[in-house]
Amino acid sequence: MLKESVYREEHQPGAQIFREGEPGNCAYVIERGAVEISSLRQGRKISISQLGEGDLFGEMALIDGEVRTGTAIATEETVLVVISLDQLREKFEHADPLLSFFVRNVLERFRTFQSRILGETEQDSPTAALLNADMSLTRHRERAMRKIRFEDQINKALINGEFEIHYQPILDLRNGTMAGVEALLRWNHPERGLLYPKDFIGFAEETGLIIPMGLWVFEQSCRALLRFQTRIEELGGDTAPFFISVNLSSRQFSDIDLVRNMSQIIDETGVNPEQIKLEITESLLMDNPARAAVTLNGVKALGLEIAIDDFGTGYSSLSYLHRFHMDTLKIDRSFVSTATINGGSMEVVRAIAGLAHNLGLDIVGEGIEQPEQVTLLRDLQCEYGQGYFFSKPVAASSILARIERQFGGHGHSNVTPLPAGQKLQ
Ligand code: C2E
Ligand code: CA
Ligand code: CA
Repeated sequence: MLKESVYREEHQPGAQIFREGEPGNCAYVIERGAVEISSLRQGRKISISQLGEGDLFGEMALIDGEVRTGTAIATEETVLVVISLDQLREKFEHADPLLSFFVRNVLERFRTFQSRILGETEQDSPTAALLNADMSLTRHRERAMRKIRFEDQINKALINGEFEIHYQPILDLRNGTMAGVEALLRWNHPERGLLYPKDFIGFAEETGLIIPMGLWVFEQSCRALLRFQTRIEELGGDTAPFFISVNLSSRQFSDIDLVRNMSQIIDETGVNPEQIKLEITESLLMDNPARAAVTLNGVKALGLEIAIDDFGTGYSSLSYLHRFHMDTLKIDRSFVSTATINGGSMEVVRAIAGLAHNLGLDIVGEGIEQPEQVTLLRDLQCEYGQGYFFSKPVAASSILARIERQFGGHGHSNVTPLPAGQKLQ
């Protein structure tokens, strides 16, 4: 990330930094010197404050987009650090909605208070009039309220058991059997019906609720894996261990308690960690590689495997695949779905598959919907495939039924027909 450059301004004693009534597009911190803020009332100058080293001023107009309510004049030789509107706006827009609502609210109260002190009635005050007309506070209030309500709903949903996990089979393309599943979160909302991750994961990340939610998913996935594995063993299945893939967002990954909490769940459930793959995205690694390396080493020390999800959509830097010792690479659906109709995409898939294999990674082709896509991925020696062609995400009971068919009675029956013309290896 580029380092923000620091801009400085120098002012001689008596110089005006900004004037009352002007629009404000920056705030200042006094690095050296002194500044007086004053206001004109019925032609009379009223001094509002005397500021010195380390003081911040001009921030109000920057936050609420209103005009300057005072005039700033340097009273000594002064050096100012300038904070631009762009620098602040970006941070403010990404701030927690509750926090920005609080800031705006405090600011509104302060401006009203200031105009009263200066002897204005609320009606006279240009600031108050502008603020009343300003819809942005209402917008911020609504956003904050939505957040509070949603947070409350998510907490209740966790307590009331409204979340559930669906499991999507991941097939071994070499023999057409189910080798594992991916855990995908669903919310059985009492009023809105079944909700998919796109409707709530982003918000859960923004609020940090993804952390308890993610641990719940991890624990449920461990328990489901035990049920699947136990049934496979009861049926005498002798294939490679069944695995479960669990998604992890960047917020979860930067939680310092993640490794400890996962370790505790592994101990409590008695699951074999080598049968669990954590799916993470490239951006999560690239945002803070040093931090990611620490967490990755921690989860690998627990015995968990790591899969890179949605490969090809982000930075697609292959160097870190090796550096971070990944186990599996999932080729994104966008490549798989166009590979059979677009030569360029096919070459990308071929290149990714070749490089991943050279680095010793297994490959999962995601979003397989057509038999030709299975054929292509098999030709490229991709080990696994996942997509609606094989199965949509389904309840745990359907996975158990599939396990019965696959491992029950007649040994390894091929429950999912591979495309015509493809012989089993
Ligand atoms: P993802 O990890 O890439 O998961 C695959 C998504 O593609 C799933 O959507 C799945 O239903 C869908 N999919 C699978 N096969 C096909 C196909 O053949 N065609 C099409 N069109 N789609 C297919 P879903 O369940 O809506 O999940 C969306 C995303 O939400 C996931 O993308 C994952 O990033 C995130 N997510 C899901 N569960 C969790 C969770 O427990 N924790 C976190 N942090 N993220 C989750
Ligand atoms: Ca995934
Ligand atoms: Ca994916």
